[in-house]
Amino acid sequence: MKKALALLVFITTLSSFAQNNTVNNDDPTKFMNSITAEKLKTRLYIVASDEMEGRDTGSKGQKKAGKYLIDQYKKSKISYPKGTTSYYQPIPAAYLNAKRNENLPDSENIWAYIEGSEKPDEVLVISAHYDHVGIKNGEVYNGADDDGSGTVAVLQIAEAFQKAKKAGHGPKRSILFLHVTGEEHGLHGSRFYSENPLFPTANTVADINIDMIGRRDVEHTNTNKYVYVIGANRLSTDLHNITVAQNDKYTHLDLDFKFNDPKDPNHFYERSDHYNFAKNGIPAVFLFNGVHADYHQKSDEPNKIEYDALAKRAQLAFVIAWDLANRPERIVVDKAIQ
Ligand SMILES: [Zn+2]
Repeated sequence: MKKALALLVFITTLSSFAQNNTVNNDDPTKFMNSITAEKLKTRLYIVASDEMEGRDTGSKGQKKAGKYLIDQYKKSKISYPKGTTSYYQPIPAAYLNAKRNENLPDSENIWAYIEGSEKPDEVLVISAHYDHVGIKNGEVYNGADDDGSGTVAVLQIAEAFQKAKKAGHGPKRSILFLHVTGEEHGLHGSRFYSENPLFPTANTVADINIDMIGRRDVEHTNTNKYVYVIGANRLSTDLHNITVAQNDKYTHLDLDFKFNDPKDPNHFYERSDHYNFAKNGIPAVFLFNGVHADYHQKSDEPNKIEYDALAKRAQLAFVIAWDLANRPERIVVDKAIQ
């Protein structure tokens, strides 16, 4: 008996030793590569189809798009967050219309969640807005780039983390996948979340926000191997350094910091959902392809998306998230809120 037990302990030790030596716990490559242009394309043609009626805040079409996202999360066995009872964070019409009455109906943020294995109370948020501007003069504005591209990217990033978890490499910190509503009417969904956070603001380590990553702008007519990085260094030098290091290691895009200049007249830093995290002291990085001729036009269609670029930029968001979720110590906020 005793002898057998000792042998068992020996074998167990040996096998765990072998495992530790053959699996690199820190390498996200395999999971990163599960984010593919093909899958993003299939989904974007659904999210940005006429059936979703341009996904205006609170509209029937937006709810349909939301239902599609939830069905995908269910299929991938990614649940809604701990402490909630559904994938929805409802936002009443009164809130959406308080600043400027546009007669918006009730709407919802949509959330999914993977719990951290070692520091479950520390949470990383990955966000993208799933609303767009709806139907105007009988024309459906499908918003394939804005922000169908970010919407399908967040979904695939979640699935990549779920694959990692199944393979025994789940994130050490928790991750909240947040599809916010009401962005086009004034960043309402992310503001609502920031005022009604599911997890305490102090425990929220960062927000990675993705808004328009499937196209190129006029500054980059010769290449789509770039992305604008906005906000990363505004609160945390760590977040900037991680973004650069992960890109150097895995995705090799040209990181363009032009719009991160606080004096840039476009003020993109204040114009998407990450801002509602940043203004509350949560480090945020915004990935963006810049504007183009189809921006907020009915011609922002899925056939104009460059799916290779969309996949690469989604992969960058994934590897940044991988580092933020798995590093031993959470990133440090070393700068004041601007
Ligand atoms: Zn947008």
